[in-house]
Formats: sequence, structure tokens, C-alpha cells
Amino acid sequence: MAEKTVLKSPADFENRPHVVPSDLAAIALVAKRYAVGVTPHVMSTIQGSPQDDPVARQYIPQKEELLVLPEESPDPIGDDAHSPVKGIVHRYPDRVLLKIANVCAVYCRYCFRREMVGPGSATLKPAELEAALNYIRNDSNIFEIILTGGDPLVLSPKKLSKILDDLCAIPHVQVIRIHSRVPVADPARITTELCAALDREKAVYMAIHINHTNEITPDVKAVFKALHKAGCVLLSQSVLLKGINDNTQALENLFRTLVSLRVKPYYLHHPDLAPGTSHFRLPVHEGQALMASLQGRISGLCLPHYMLDIPGGHGKVPIGPSWLEETQNGTYLVKDRHGHTHAYPPENKE
Ligand SMILES: *Cc1c(COP(=O)(O)O)cnc(C)c1O
Ligand code: SF4
Repeated sequence: MAEKTVLKSPADFENRPHVVPSDLAAIALVAKRYAVGVTPHVMSTIQGSPQDDPVARQYIPQKEELLVLPEESPDPIGDDAHSPVKGIVHRYPDRVLLKIANVCAVYCRYCFRREMVGPGSATLKPAELEAALNYIRNDSNIFEIILTGGDPLVLSPKKLSKILDDLCAIPHVQVIRIHSRVPVADPARITTELCAALDREKAVYMAIHINHTNEITPDVKAVFKALHKAGCVLLSQSVLLKGINDNTQALENLFRTLVSLRVKPYYLHHPDLAPGTSHFRLPVHEGQALMASLQGRISGLCLPHYMLDIPGGHGKVPIGPSWLEETQNGTYLVKDRHGHTHAYPPENKE
């Protein structure tokens, strides 16, 4: 039988392939401060150390995590300021985040909510969930609900099903989006029962958090297929991470593989300023150069938007690169993917 227990403490990581004594020491230090969790499925995809393996680096703590820079913040994207009731973040008029659970199937080392998530962080209590649902019921501008967390797919299929029943019963709610790491981190959780819970009349989108092709195993492919069969539209969300996917080839492979599996790359996030994550961040101009190198090389279907969540709660915006520049006389200068500049005429005002 396959091993099921999530690895959390240094003792759990002892005698594992590719985990060396210095990693165990880092795990011991970091686990005192942040949640650590790696599923046996993820462990099976690790082929090297956090210094050279793109999966190990996402999950095995490193001592750099204890270094916190002044610009880093426990609430890096300013969610708190936009939370009218517990569990809801309402930043854009037509959509809200509904955070039901603060636990995840695994704990990513660069997590932007690392100060909020972890074992022991409670799920919403029944009365709190009801208050959050009432908030949604009372605002007819809300068109889309984004279930996030933590990870909404750690809930039992029964519990998730009840929440989806309640959401789908709200007339103005037309779209449910689920943000989850579970399909790639713990595919065994995507059971027939869970798929049945997701199969709805209203549109259910799932944005799968994935950063590298090595995360796509035969089990993961089977899960994508099962989710498609349940009528979910699949998108991906990735984080641009130093030493993991910060090169053209790794991104090209990831986005092409996803599209070939019917998953549309949606966003490539610039890492948020979460505490102890500076070893994962590269300068924005390097991210822009990577995006420029992908333009035209991979199809529009394969290319996600490169996004920055502006610290302070100002929302997400695409951060280029920009291909167009307006000159003084109104003529535009537009760059092609080889870096050659071309003039484009101004509007004819007559
Ligand atoms: C990211 C986010 C959304 C979703 O934004 P999209 O651009 O629609 O993907 C919605 N609300 C909040 C508070 C968010 O942080
Ligand atoms: S799954 Fe998401 S919320 Fe959970 S640790 Fe990873 S990045 Fe954070």
C-alpha cells in the first residue's frame, strides 16, 4: 500500500533519498517558525537537493528562510484591509475570495500566506461560514467566487459539496473558481466522490498551482482528465521562482506541457514580499526579459500574464514587458520579438 503520511518534522525526513544532514538541520530550524509539509507523492518526484532540484526547492526548507528583509511583510498583499467579514477578501467589486480552510496538503517554502496557513489554523466555524455566505448573498455585484485558503480541496468532498450547493443557489453567483495545489501535490485526494461534488450546472474553474514540469506525473495527468470529465475548466497559476523555473526552457516546457494536457496557463506571479523568501525572488526586469523571450516562441495559448500583486492591497496588475511606446508626435514605436523597433501611425483625428 502506498504511504500516506505527510512529512512534517526532521525525523520524518531522515533516511529519505536526496535529503542530506544539512537539510535536516534547516528543517529543524525552519519548522519552529513556519509550517512544513511534504506528501509522499511529492517526495517521489524529488530527484536532488533543494540547491539543484526544482521540486525539492519548492518544499524542503532552507536556512535562508530565517532571513527577513525590511520590505517583507506578514500580509504582503494587504488582504486584511479588504476583509469585511472573516473568510472573505473583497478587493474587486465583482469577485471575492472565500477562504474556508487555512490548511494545505503541502507547504510551499515561498508561500505568500505563510503567516496565515498551517496545521492548527482553523477552518471557518459553521456560524462564520454562514456569515460569509450571507455577505455574498447580500451583494448582487458578486459574479465570481474564488475559493482559496489554505487549500479548499483539503476539505472532505461532503463539506465542499455543501458549500458549492450554497454558492450555486445564489442567483448572482455565476462562476466558482477554486485555487488549489492538491491536483499536483496530493493527486490521491481527487477521488470520484470529489469530482462528483465539483460537477455543477454553473461554471467551475480550477486554477492549479504548479511551477515545474517535474510535478506532472502519470497520476497528475489522470487527475487533470478526471477534473475535465467533471466539467471543470482548468487553468494554471505559477510563481516565477529563482532556481526553480527562472529560465526560458523551464517555462516553455511547463506551459507547453500544460496546454497539451488542456490546462490554460493563466498567471505567472512575481513572488510576493513574504517573510524569508528573498532567495526565491529575482528582479522584475529579469522576469520581464524571460517573458519577452517567450513571446512568439510559444503560442498565445501557452503564454500566461506576468502579474504583480501590489503590496498594500492595491490589487494585481500585469507587469509587462511593454512592447509599445508613444512618442511626442503621437506616433507609436512598437518592438517586435527580435528587439527591432517599428513605427505605428497615430490615430487619424479627422
Ligand atoms: C487575486 C485576487 C483575485 C482574483 O484576481 P483575478 O485577476 O480575477 O484572477 C480576486 N480577489 C482578490 C482579493 C485577489 O487577491
Ligand atoms: S498551497 Fe498555496 S497557500 Fe498552501 S503553502 Fe502552498 S502557496 Fe501557500
